Amino acid sequence: MRYSTLAEVYEELEKTSKRLEKTRIVSKLLKKASDEELQMVMLLLEGRIYPAWDRREAGVATQMMLKAISHAVGTGINDVQAEWKMTGDLGKVSENLISKKKQATLRREELDVAKVFSNLRRLNEISGNGSVDRKIQLIAELLSSASPNEARYITRTVLQQMRVGIGAGTLRDAIVHAFIEEPNQNRRIAEQVQEAYDLTSDFGEVAKAIKSGGIKGIESIKLSIGNPIKVMLALKVDTIEEGFEKAGRPMQAEYKMDGFRVQIHKKDEDITVFTRRLENVTKQFPEIAEYAKKHVNGEEFILDAEAAGYDPKSKKYLPFQSISQRIKRKYDIERMATQFPVEVNVFDVIWHNGKNMISEPFRNRRKLIERIVEDRERKIRPSKKIVTDNDKEIEEFFREAKEMGNEGLMFKNLDAPYKPGARVGHMLKYKKTMENLDLAIVKAEWGEGKRSMWLSSYTIACRKGNKLLEVGKVSTGLKEKPEEGLSFDEMTKMLKPLIIGEEGKTAIVKPEIVIEVGYEEIQKSPTYESGFALRFPRIITMRQDKGIEDISSMEMVEQYYNEQKKTKK
Ligand code: AMP
Repeated sequence: MRYSTLAEVYEELEKTSKRLEKTRIVSKLLKKASDEELQMVMLLLEGRIYPAWDRREAGVATQMMLKAISHAVGTGINDVQAEWKMTGDLGKVSENLISKKKQATLRREELDVAKVFSNLRRLNEISGNGSVDRKIQLIAELLSSASPNEARYITRTVLQQMRVGIGAGTLRDAIVHAFIEEPNQNRRIAEQVQEAYDLTSDFGEVAKAIKSGGIKGIESIKLSIGNPIKVMLALKVDTIEEGFEKAGRPMQAEYKMDGFRVQIHKKDEDITVFTRRLENVTKQFPEIAEYAKKHVNGEEFILDAEAAGYDPKSKKYLPFQSISQRIKRKYDIERMATQFPVEVNVFDVIWHNGKNMISEPFRNRRKLIERIVEDRERKIRPSKKIVTDNDKEIEEFFREAKEMGNEGLMFKNLDAPYKPGARVGHMLKYKKTMENLDLAIVKAEWGEGKRSMWLSSYTIACRKGNKLLEVGKVSTGLKEKPEEGLSFDEMTKMLKPLIIGEEGKTAIVKPEIVIEVGYEEIQKSPTYESGFALRFPRIITMRQDKGIEDISSMEMVEQYYNEQKKTKK
């Protein structure tokens, strides 16, 4: 297949926002692709050269791309840069410059999909001395053979900025339209295709199986160790009764740890660790691989688990934020592992020694976990659980879970299978976290040490009529690095012009900024004029959409306080 055919499809996709139209365009393309091309086309449509869960990438940054374009068109880098400043889109820059050049030269060589694809993948394989130059050379060659609009999409693919607006739903439907003939059963078939995708996270593989064997071909799709599968998701319940209603009586309750989800694969002595979004984080968490090797019995397995951070000195569990910085870390990995270690709590098993456990009832999967996962405190262990039909026991267990620093409980249906990618009632979360409050910042304190440049702790107030009453101080929730979200720096810039007075290190500010604040509990407190204080408050977000008249009222705070007393009893 010519690459120009694909480039035309990208163009058509960009022109329409209608899902059905997109499905039609893609399914037409899929029908044209040969068996070998199908997988490449599926990936390229998403603007990828590797599946989402695969860590490999072209590894080409903007500066390198600028140079490659400059090589390909024989224009100085400054001119390319100037063009880029004007359009803000390197894809367009390639297209424009190639188009100018093409008018002056002879007809190019035709590019086909397989060639573009394999050259893009070669980018990942180039390493070592002189690799930057060799990469630039390779891209420049591709661009030189490309037509202007092909150049636009090659550039975007290399930079991982495809943005033609095509989602997983469209790809799935397009596969059905392209290869299945009984349109009446399309809905059930779409579900089956989705299930196959949830197992493999790879549309290419799914499309290939259906093309060769029709809907029956899907049955050949097997879970494969080393490729992550979509994780089963949880529904929320508000009461314990609702938990029993949905999960059955008796049910299993487990601590809901405030960590992050990991899927651990073992095959041929190799361990791979994926996050819930199927990113490979094996390197970032060397201790997880170590524990899985040493303390889990089995030649091969896939486990579903929560990695919870803890304080290496006190051994107490820490909230998710404390380990979140490890997930994307590229350097200092060992130091981070000692400073912010995790404990792996295994709560499900998907595969073990050649046996697919997905359809086994949860009680059997749990039995297996207890057989194969050793209980090693602060390393790896089966998740903490009870099985009961008694509401009181659950309540007691919930209290214990909270005291230990957990978010709450998970309820599990003992008879249910594992459903990849699905938010079904087989797994329920019960957190009882309180309703967030919208509060005004009335004072702000200058920080210490590296935070001394910032107003970093904020006194917050609710409203009683026209008066503002303080309900506590909050200093968590904001980021030190602006690229990670709402930052101290940003907040300081907003607050500074509002300063109307000073009390030592504390600035009194005109109450204009409204923030949404989460917390664990409301307590009675003589410290603040409202008579209440928030326990473990944290800033959730700025409420630019709210003014001072919209903040939570004193009555609301009292009402939440009373409700929480009731549910505690
Ligand atoms: P949520 O993210 O609020 O939807 O809650 C579900 C998440 O809780 C899961 O994706 C896991 O990351 C996490 N979790 C913590 N402990 C457990 C457990 N024992 N069983 C299942 N999930 C758990």
